[in-house]
Amino acid sequence: MYQNDTIAAISTALGEGAIGIVRLSGPEAIPMANKVFKGKNLANVPTHTIHYGHVIDPKTNQVIDEVMTSVMKGPRSYTMENIVEINCHGGIIAVQRTLEVVLDQGARMAEPGEFTKRAFLNGRIDLSQAEAVMDLIQAKTDKAMNASMNQLQGSLSNKISALREEMLQTLAQVEVTIDYPEYDDVEEMSLTQLRETAESVKGQIQQLLQQASQGKLFREGINTAIIGRPNVGKSSLLNFLSGIDKAIVTDIAGTTRDTIEEFINIRGVPLKLIDTAGIRQTDELVEQIGVEKSRQVMEKADLVILILNQAQALNETDIELLELTKNQQRIILLNKSDLEPVLDREKLAEYCDDDSIIATSITEESGLDQLEAMIEKRFFGGQLQSADVNYLLNTRHTQLLKQAIEALDEVIQATEMALPVDLIQIDYTRAWDLLGEITGESVQDELLNKLFSQFCLGK
Ligand code: GDP
Ligand code: ZN
Repeated sequence: MYQNDTIAAISTALGEGAIGIVRLSGPEAIPMANKVFKGKNLANVPTHTIHYGHVIDPKTNQVIDEVMTSVMKGPRSYTMENIVEINCHGGIIAVQRTLEVVLDQGARMAEPGEFTKRAFLNGRIDLSQAEAVMDLIQAKTDKAMNASMNQLQGSLSNKISALREEMLQTLAQVEVTIDYPEYDDVEEMSLTQLRETAESVKGQIQQLLQQASQGKLFREGINTAIIGRPNVGKSSLLNFLSGIDKAIVTDIAGTTRDTIEEFINIRGVPLKLIDTAGIRQTDELVEQIGVEKSRQVMEKADLVILILNQAQALNETDIELLELTKNQQRIILLNKSDLEPVLDREKLAEYCDDDSIIATSITEESGLDQLEAMIEKRFFGGQLQSADVNYLLNTRHTQLLKQAIEALDEVIQATEMALPVDLIQIDYTRAWDLLGEITGESVQDELLNKLFSQFCLGK
């Protein structure tokens, strides 16, 4: 599986849009780069040094770009192989030309994720760290970024290793006890030990899953729909919220944005606004696209902000929207509270809980603090700090953890029924293996290929 050739790709650095990096990794990285780099003989430079010079096309001697080139010799490099990174300054064309001349020297175009795959295969990082690299590339908010960073530094791996260690300790104790059958309560002792550990590990996994569901919201943003009939104040709210903090959109060079999604940051909670284009352009989401379509939009929403105009009576559209969203996480704004109240609160109370209603005047900016506070409280109970979001679990992790919980449940049940210890050990070991798959201690090639192919090129 380990490949011995030299790979290259454009590997754009995080947050540095103007600079493009062509990265080479493999045994021929330095000689290949040397053929296209003029300024210094890279064959003679010490490891972890950076050099000024020019990239040229050796066929024509034409200068392609002015560059800084760094040399990192394995094993102290990302892939543990020799790595050369050519930092181009001349824009995307120069980066692409540089890659071309590097490929002309015999480097192979890297597959998506191949650098990270090599780092994994060469033992530099484990799987959950590799996946964190991917999350980092796709991170949408600062907090999601922090969580990926934490994971990259191994916080999930450390947690999983600790759990496996705890399980192993118990297993060792059980083995020891079983080796001394002269004690007559051996079985019982073993059962107790296995049960206690299974319960403890299960509890910790549940905690991890719970934390991670918050992490997921941070990573992907909370799908939020702002709805209401024409003229209630949707655009005004959108404009107000967008003005709070536009910087939340983590701008990672090289990521494609195929859909127009707007992210806003409400007290550290990333909201991903659904169909803002609809609100901004047509103004009348509901009437334009019809109730059926709004139903679909609504279903995708993690949060619905339904705006009513309290200077007017509830009408049919209002009631339709109230019914449509009744099973959803929603906040109801009674907007235009600066005007004479007309809306019948008692009638409204038939359709919604009082504690999801906030009176606002968007034009006078009143009630909007309460809106922000409610969003914060709804999603994080007001207590979640970014430092708490240490773990981002992807679907694979989540599945493995849930399977591990199932196996542990079997262990717990079996100990309660006092089944034979060696039978219980089968489920116990299965749970241990499942956890191991998270960090990649027991994974197959096929899974690896699938995982790494999800990466961006050049990572
Ligand atoms: P939309 O059709 O739901 O997007 O509503 P808009 O945001 O375009 O607002 C419709 C009109 O209502 C505009 O003239 C706004 O200035 C006005 N408006 C929005 N919020 C308030 C408010 O809280 N009080 C008052 N008096 N007018 C508001
Ligand atoms: Zn509007």
